[in-house]
Amino acid sequence: MHILVIGGAGYIGSHVVKALLQRKMKVTVFDNLSTGTKLNLFKEADFIEGDILNYNQILDALKQNVDGIVLLAGKKAVGESMENPMKYALNNINGVINVLNAMVEAGVKKAIFSSSASVYGTPLYTPLDEKHPENPMSFYGFTKLETERFLKWYDQLKGVKFVSLRYFNAVGYDEDGDIKGLEENPQNLLPIVMEAVIGKREKLKIFGNDYDTPDGTCIRDYIHVTDLATAHALALEYLDKGGESQILNLGTSLGSSVLEMVHKTEEVVGKKVPFEFAPRRAGDPAIVTAKPDKAFEVLGWKATHSDLKNIIASTWNMYKNL
Ligand code: UDP
Repeated sequence: MHILVIGGAGYIGSHVVKALLQRKMKVTVFDNLSTGTKLNLFKEADFIEGDILNYNQILDALKQNVDGIVLLAGKKAVGESMENPMKYALNNINGVINVLNAMVEAGVKKAIFSSSASVYGTPLYTPLDEKHPENPMSFYGFTKLETERFLKWYDQLKGVKFVSLRYFNAVGYDEDGDIKGLEENPQNLLPIVMEAVIGKREKLKIFGNDYDTPDGTCIRDYIHVTDLATAHALALEYLDKGGESQILNLGTSLGSSVLEMVHKTEEVVGKKVPFEFAPRRAGDPAIVTAKPDKAFEVLGWKATHSDLKNIIASTWNMYKNL
């Protein structure tokens, strides 16, 4: 299969490219390099610099005998989406519509879409299965849910088959060190912990220690990006065998608290994590964990890289020499 990985120079995209290459797929990366970097490109994959907001660019790329796409390009900062919904509407909705329309025009019928646990909003129960009501609390989550609805219609009306993968908390880095690009201005917990360890920031602020959890800090389902990447490869193989469209959670079912992440980091890297407790962050639920059984049933997928030690060690590898 020849796969166009849209957003393949980014953090998750580059790991996906590696997983597809390992499974002997031909890969072309399409990326506008706005947050992605050439450091994340593989010499075995072709590269097109282009933007999903430019219809002709994406159409031309899809016309290069592409069998399927992985669509990762988009904006992903929850906080920013609440301040600048226009940017998210443009990139995460208009951009996706462009890609879908170009797929129809080019006759490409297989799409893997990067979605998010944020489509569920505040959990009514955990672990979350795919039947949990969808009630996004952020504009970002709303754009992901809307896109899934577009995908369902394009399947019904135009036969575009899709697998939408709802990521829980993506963490870690390639364990072979093949991916070199570090995300700039990280907004997520583990990179912030690392920056506190190396002194790039003074302290980690832990948002709330009065939650109804064993240690009072929030619990999340941290999933290694290499495990996420494998799911994309399996999903493409599933669609190639004629599988029906699916929406699948990708997580471990296990949860770790913020304090557990801090203490495990101290153990793995052998250094203190300077931190202080700060007020709760608006919109943070106490516990978010995934029930990943459907991904196992449909794809045979299960997390195998996601123990905390692996996650932290592979992240530390990227930060220790900064
Ligand atoms: N968190 C924190 N301090 C930070 C960043 C995150 O305490 O500087 C906490 C946050 O409240 C949440 C967890 O770490 O409970 C994971 O947050 P992140 O932003 O990485 O992902 P989210 O679960 O919000 O998608």
